[in-house]
Amino acid sequence: MPLRARKPEWLKVRSPGGANYMRLQKMMRSESLHTVCEEASCPNIGECWESGTATFMILGDVCTRACKYCGVAHGMPTELDLDEPRRVADTCAAMELEHVVITSVNRDELADGGASIYADTIRQIRARLPECSVEVLIPDFKGDEESLGVVLDARPSILGHNLETVDRLHPDVRPGGRYWRSISFLGASKKLAPDILTKTGIILGMGEEPHEIRQAMSDLREAAVDILTLGQYLRPSPQHIPVARWVTPAEFAEWKRVGEEEYGFRHVESGPLVRSSYHAKEQAREVEAGGPGAITDVLEADIPAPAELRPELNQRMPSLVQIEVGRSGAAHS
Ligand code: SF4
Repeated sequence: MPLRARKPEWLKVRSPGGANYMRLQKMMRSESLHTVCEEASCPNIGECWESGTATFMILGDVCTRACKYCGVAHGMPTELDLDEPRRVADTCAAMELEHVVITSVNRDELADGGASIYADTIRQIRARLPECSVEVLIPDFKGDEESLGVVLDARPSILGHNLETVDRLHPDVRPGGRYWRSISFLGASKKLAPDILTKTGIILGMGEEPHEIRQAMSDLREAAVDILTLGQYLRPSPQHIPVARWVTPAEFAEWKRVGEEEYGFRHVESGPLVRSSYHAKEQAREVEAGGPGAITDVLEADIPAPAELRPELNQRMPSLVQIEVGRSGAAHS
């Protein structure tokens, strides 16, 4: 589908303008604060901010992987910012948030993949805002269970990790990831902390077939994943893979039914504009975690992925290798 192909009506949203949204937007400007919501031009910003939910990206804005649907820059990241958890917690407190989503780029060059910064961020937000639920949307840490345990020890309300696409498309569109590694990583979370909700997301419209979506649902339930989000792929730039098709709202509704009734997800959030954190506050409060499933050990851990093998990522580089810039609707989707 051409980049400038006219988007269907259901992907158009009204400009945000509620009182809480306006208050937060003014504060973000005056204090130079940043969220993924604004930087990714997320279409849900009015609704999310109005309800006290926002998403922050930590660990920098340069990713060591190069997924073909994602608008985040990839290359060699900058130094680790150890003060970042405090600043994020301060911002959450200033925004008086009720639900926070913390996500990040992949930092495969770090020994723990950034797990300790996630844990510190969760703890600092909790210390500032005890009533605020904290959800993390983490990378796969190359399948390292110990790093996963570091994050879970900080007790997030929801442990999220996105599968992003079906098995067949993985090697092409998500070369740094592994289908079974991602699924089993979520399964391992249930072994380490069965009472913490697990959540994943799949982007539709990248060429997947219906039977492959069903297979992914079935595989995710083997790992006892509680919550699934399904949203439409939007192409960030001509350098990214094209949109294969627009999935209709009726089809999204049917996938919600299939996921909940046929495969037993405790909640499926499914719609053209759904992103990982959409309606996440309600999920954190209303969905109850199920116990471990059949898959509880990480599979395909430590298998180097192509992006991890790029020699420049194994050395300290004097400057960034920035191949793509800017973010778009695919960020943290
Ligand atoms: S869906 Fe996520 S990125 Fe978009 S506005 Fe809501 S919290 Fe922010």
